[in-house]
Amino acid sequence: MNSAEIRILGLKVNKVTMGETLAFIDEALKKDGLTRVITLNAEIAYGAYGDEELTALINNADLVTPDGSGILWAASQYGEAISERVCGIDLLTELLQKYSDGSHGFYFLGAKPEAASLAAKKIRKMYPHLQFCGYHHGYFGKENSEDMAAIIAKSGADILIAAMGAPFQDHWIATYGERCNVKVGIGVGGSLDILAGVAKRAPNFFQEFRLEWLYRLLKDPSRFRRTMTLPKFMRLVKKDCNR
Ligand code: UDP
Repeated sequence: MNSAEIRILGLKVNKVTMGETLAFIDEALKKDGLTRVITLNAEIAYGAYGDEELTALINNADLVTPDGSGILWAASQYGEAISERVCGIDLLTELLQKYSDGSHGFYFLGAKPEAASLAAKKIRKMYPHLQFCGYHHGYFGKENSEDMAAIIAKSGADILIAAMGAPFQDHWIATYGERCNVKVGIGVGGSLDILAGVAKRAPNFFQEFRLEWLYRLLKDPSRFRRTMTLPKFMRLVKKDCNR
């Protein structure tokens, strides 16, 4: 990877634009072996603080994109400018568009059963020539992971879209990605819910002012505890920068 890497609370983040991320994935699809892509937001970064295993999982990923305005803010605190976010739903949409000619096979893993099936229907309708290798909801039970991986391997997919929430999806890709026999595994959080229409993307206003977290909180107040990780993350970053 040629793009510059920065560290936020000791975690690797690649200073990549969406265009560079797509080019990186395109190259990875030509290679043998698994390429792991993580879309990192402040919540995962905060969760990784003091967690050696999760830190290693992130730092050993092949590409860590700056998902979330918290990461862009943190980068600026370290004197690094990141020009744009590369978040799961945008990356997924771009990939579906780019390979809508059927040149690469997709497997979609994650979301609740109804949402997964709705998302699959919508993707098939929007991209009729896409190589849709299969989908499964994300509640298959950890003990069935090996069987799940065998199903994905049999599907012939080379891109695994894991939408089971971070960091579970990222652990899953790291553990079972090779067995899935895919070339690229990407964690995209709640993106299938958005494609299914069961969750809504924050309107432009919220995105523009980096208030997507506020929109998600207003829509789903049960996210309060999760949202509270944002100020904690910001405090940790400030402390780290002043050291
Ligand atoms: N999910 C899943 N399997 C699980 C837990 C969660 O497939 O064991 C799905 C959940 O249904 C939702 C997504 O993972 O579609 C997580 O969405 P969220 O918005 O919380 O993720 P984020 O984008 O914040 O990582």
